[in-house]
Amino acid sequence: MIYRIIITFLLVINFANSDAHATDSKLFKFSALELEMDRIANEYAGDTSAVLDALDNLLENSPSATPGERALFMTYDCALRAGLASTLAEQRLASLKEYSREHTNNAAVRAATALCEANVANYLEDSPLYRTSLYKAFLFAQKADVATLRYWISLNVSNLFEQLHDVKNNEKALLIGLQVANDNQDLHRIQTANHLLADLYLASKQYELALKHNEASQQALEQTKDTWYQAELYSNKAKALQALAQYQKAKEFIQKAISQSKKKGKHRDAQFFVLDLAFLSLLMSDLATANSLSESVELYASEYNDEYLQHQVLLQQSFYALMSNNSDKAITLFEQAINFLEKQNYSVAKLLAWQKQALIAQKAMLFKRESEALGQYSLLFENYVRENSLNIQTILQKVLVSIREDDADIAQFHLEQATTQTAQISENREVLLLGVLLLAALLAIILAKFVWSMVIRYKLNQAEINRQLFYDPLTQCFNRRYFNDVISKNLLTASLAKKTSFLVAIDIDHFKKFNDVYGHSAGDTVLKELVKNLQDDSRLSDNVVRLGGEEFLIVLPPNENLRIEVVIERILSLVSNSPVVIEDKPRDITISIGYVPVEKANSKGDIDDLLNLADKALYLAKEKGRNRAFGVSELQCPANYIDKITIASENKLLKLTEIEPKKNL
Ligand code: GH3
Ligand code: MG
Ligand code: MG
Repeated sequence: MIYRIIITFLLVINFANSDAHATDSKLFKFSALELEMDRIANEYAGDTSAVLDALDNLLENSPSATPGERALFMTYDCALRAGLASTLAEQRLASLKEYSREHTNNAAVRAATALCEANVANYLEDSPLYRTSLYKAFLFAQKADVATLRYWISLNVSNLFEQLHDVKNNEKALLIGLQVANDNQDLHRIQTANHLLADLYLASKQYELALKHNEASQQALEQTKDTWYQAELYSNKAKALQALAQYQKAKEFIQKAISQSKKKGKHRDAQFFVLDLAFLSLLMSDLATANSLSESVELYASEYNDEYLQHQVLLQQSFYALMSNNSDKAITLFEQAINFLEKQNYSVAKLLAWQKQALIAQKAMLFKRESEALGQYSLLFENYVRENSLNIQTILQKVLVSIREDDADIAQFHLEQATTQTAQISENREVLLLGVLLLAALLAIILAKFVWSMVIRYKLNQAEINRQLFYDPLTQCFNRRYFNDVISKNLLTASLAKKTSFLVAIDIDHFKKFNDVYGHSAGDTVLKELVKNLQDDSRLSDNVVRLGGEEFLIVLPPNENLRIEVVIERILSLVSNSPVVIEDKPRDITISIGYVPVEKANSKGDIDDLLNLADKALYLAKEKGRNRAFGVSELQCPANYIDKITIASENKLLKLTEIEPKKNL
């Protein structure tokens, strides 16, 4: 037994260093259970708790599920829970880790565990841990035989490799994903994987390959009729064609991209495509068109106060000036744009800017300018690649350490079990000697654990300090400072990544009267009970903020599965159906709500404006009789432009939705 453990120990340590097996020849089919899981996910897409229940049910009734399949379910469950609350996901992670101990050599189980770890880290915004865990998942996924896991992990990690500009690993990941898609003739996934490959090949200047995968994605798209990313696909094709100097065809596809994105209501995206068309017009020596196109974008950008877009217009204007032989103006404008990109740390955009300048200079036969621009471009590119390859090396090192730590943890578990058995076989001197060695190892581990617990304790102290800073003493939920210092930043990051969060403003109805009738301390009880009720709902628990008095805010982080109307109705119903006991009698409490989606927010000021708008919706709910919600959607202008919300709605500047609670039967 002990020999075996030591050998396993050595084996698992070496595992991480061995080469990936070639898996290309093998087929990766979805099993019946995986397909059923997909079906459930689609059927209940809007309702996370329903998906969780259905999955639980399915697994319970599938005693023959393989360990890999079980781990897949657990990690999917973990991802869904991470969308609800971190503590729930952490519980799932703990059970997956335990499951890993029993299935040390099962790559699918280890991959699923690492993926869950990544999801939890992502939720906790621990970006280094997120990267390490995801990369670790990728190493295991390459040896895993569960098709869904291979696909998920590959596509997730591809995003990471893209950020780190690691073309080789990115390609490897996407090809694994594509293989799963092709093996299963899964059109949606064929569409996605090919689209991502087309983007990768475009960015790495492999234009023929980009066109090939673009075509494959387009064909799948025509069969799925899922046209959400059609505009992006057209634009990808246009850029590859442009790079191959097929300008006329490129123009055709940019125009398609523009009209398609407008059709989908993606107006900001359309502006970027218009700028692409303006640039192409310069390459085609059509200066007049280039000028009028960039003027139209300039108008949009200033109307929406869109700084990034404004600077992209400046860039375009500098290229125009270069083509019109106005070099001085060209350089001034270009520098202005580059300084902005520099300040905002947009390194890829900066690279592209130099590349475009070189192209235009060549076109205008300003060869000195061209070679200068190319020089800048390659300098930046080299730095960028060097920096990122250092990053990726560091991450890989961390991944290997992390796998060893996991293995040590697993080995320790087996070790503890084994040491209880040593007494029975102690006559054997050899084994006894080994037992001593193992005990020494165990002691070392215990010591390490002790040091670790000290670290944790220190962290807990730190956490307590943070708690006092950011918590409301009466209700124990977050305070306004936490909203300003922490949540707002998260909202901005999500908004920049084009993900939608929601601000839900809440105010208790007729609270002054309640205080007057039952007394202030009864009022305090109501405040505490309200927060407790809200926090008992797992989806809301981590995100309740007391803004002051009897005004609260719930922040719903981005979640594809979230149906806002359902959540709002649930909050209203929850409160109106949970009377608070005052002097032994239940008293009904109701609240009014106003909510807004957080989209296109670029600054803390934008967030405050949106919160103001939510307040306006809240006061409309008060006016219309209380115990209801009004929600804003399809906002067509900056939030601070809205004065009277009802008038804005009549003018179609936004859409209002009214929601009332469900009565308890
Ligand atoms: P409406 O339905 O329009 O919101 O009516 P309201 O009476 O709730 O509105 P208003 O905002 O005028 O009253 C808020 C009251 O909340 C005033 C104050 O007595 C009470 N309040 C604010 N903070 C606290 C607190 O910490 N404890 C208690 N018990 N009451 C508070
Ligand atoms: Mg109030
Ligand atoms: Mg009130």
